[in-house]
Amino acid sequence: MLEQIIPQNSIDAVEKIISCNNKFVILSHKNPDGDALGSSLALYHYIKNRGKNVQVVLPNPYPDFLAWLPGADDVLLYENDREKVCEAVSGADAFFCLDFNTLSRIGDVGEVVAQSDAPKILVDHHPFPTDEFVVKISFPEACSTSELVYRLIEMLSGDVAVSYEMAQCVYTGMMTDTGAFAYASARKDIYLIIAALLDKGIDKDLIYRKVFYTYSMSRMRLMGYVMYRKLKVYKQFNAALLTLEHDELMRFYAVKGDTEGLVNQPLQIKGMRFSCFLREEQPGKINVSLRSVDDFPCNEVAAEFFNGGGHKNASGGELHCSMAEAVELFGKAIKKFRKQLTE
Ligand code: 5GP
Ligand code: MN
Repeated sequence: MLEQIIPQNSIDAVEKIISCNNKFVILSHKNPDGDALGSSLALYHYIKNRGKNVQVVLPNPYPDFLAWLPGADDVLLYENDREKVCEAVSGADAFFCLDFNTLSRIGDVGEVVAQSDAPKILVDHHPFPTDEFVVKISFPEACSTSELVYRLIEMLSGDVAVSYEMAQCVYTGMMTDTGAFAYASARKDIYLIIAALLDKGIDKDLIYRKVFYTYSMSRMRLMGYVMYRKLKVYKQFNAALLTLEHDELMRFYAVKGDTEGLVNQPLQIKGMRFSCFLREEQPGKINVSLRSVDDFPCNEVAAEFFNGGGHKNASGGELHCSMAEAVELFGKAIKKFRKQLTE
């Protein structure tokens, strides 16, 4: 038996919204990852199986290694299809907001959605959700939003309602948000849910390979280059920094997703508690990825220094400056957080 973490009154409220309405839009965050797409598609199949009209909307494309997820072809991307998205959003009776905690995290789509009076249901595991939602299923202790979607479906309709397709989507989200159950995954319930998903027939080893064994040769070479030439370790701060400038990304023909996960690597160095990756997406625009271990709150660093936020151990942000300025800012950040990094 799973511990009941979603309160019954939230389940009742969601059930009422689903049964009384016909058109649903499921939204998730910009640069969708395995959990964003996995949780959205699991819920998509569930609502569809209840005979309802449902559309998943994402701000921009998901990475290729997720394209095999059942239902991925039916997703609408705001970046490519504004008109269709606006039509779906304005016709929606209700919204499900998955894997983000505030409408501003979904880019321009958030502004379109904010204009609709239709109820918005949040299902998410990021801390500090805003008050835009009529129902808030928000549990930072959950390993992923996909875990919460499994729990939601199970409480609404029982495990029998979980199909093979939903199981593949849920497993992918749980696996990607925990680094294949290497972190944020110590709760027993996670493994009870995995057991239930295996009962649906998923092939967990195959899913692992489909998601993680998809590097291009250029990515492999880029990783070698980054680790050999671009890794800087600040030993007295237990911190590490990786940087890639725009012309370096071009040189390695790096495509979207090629740098995914790089930020985790320096944490494998003994004693490292904090890792930062600065990636110059476009000249002057720097994407910031932060990772930490134990209690070091990289979301606080993201909020204070990098215009961002996120989870305690995985967060991010964005800078509009040169790489040299960004590196300087990182230096300031570790100085400010020195005590927490070294105690
Ligand atoms: P990643 O490093 O994979 O891009 O992001 C890791 C996590 O940080 C995401 O799952 C998300 O929770 C958070 N995050 C990334 N960028 C931002 C941002 O600009 N603002 C906020 N609030 N969170 C972010
Ligand atoms: Mn997530």
